[in-house]
Amino acid sequence: MIKNLLIDLDDTLLDFGKAESIALTKTLLKCKIEPSEQLLARYHEINASLWHALEEGRILRSELLLERFRRLSEEFSLSLDPVLTQSYYDEFLSMGCFFIPGAKELLDELAEQYTLYIASNGNVRAQQKRIANAGLSGYFTDVFLSEVIGHDKPDPAFFDACFARMEGADRDNTVMIGDSLRSDMLGGMRYGLPTVWFNPKRLPLPEGMHVDAVIHSLSQLPATLRRMAMAH
Ligand SMILES: [Mg+2]
Repeated sequence: MIKNLLIDLDDTLLDFGKAESIALTKTLLKCKIEPSEQLLARYHEINASLWHALEEGRILRSELLLERFRRLSEEFSLSLDPVLTQSYYDEFLSMGCFFIPGAKELLDELAEQYTLYIASNGNVRAQQKRIANAGLSGYFTDVFLSEVIGHDKPDPAFFDACFARMEGADRDNTVMIGDSLRSDMLGGMRYGLPTVWFNPKRLPLPEGMHVDAVIHSLSQLPATLRRMAMAH
């Protein structure tokens, strides 16, 4: 019987890519820098590689937040102040919440049958504001943010902390749902949780990775969970 759903936030319920590029554009304009496509694309690459390092425990979150702007500044000779730039970016990011198609309808449906939890590696300040601005707070019994917990997905310590706060939850009645193979699916797999991979881009599943189910649109999730419950 599936009772609890741990759901990732960015690029699972909210469109992070859109929020990120809008926030970055506004940040650069505020710093009097022309937000060229090349600059936005390169920031995205730098940021993604640093998040990868964070998931592997090779860099601290506090370092990541500044390092991405330091590298961007250096590569493009921009003389950005990383601390100031990060604070502008964080402010603009927290204002941006755009739903992944079908997210709101999905939550309306899931909330009737399951206890819902957010499990996110994002920043506390931005995530809390985005959750509130998107009107998501009411759907979730608890919100697990790795920055508060002190461990990031896929670290099992992140899931230990979640389970300590989820009443009546165990590995048989809880499913991890998210778009990221490296954090959500690997984290769930290592912790022994059933997983649902939200894979709208229809990426191939790398060798050695296991997921219990794949969905290409959020509307497929309720039926997928019912199927998983029956097979269990
Ligand atoms: Mg995500």
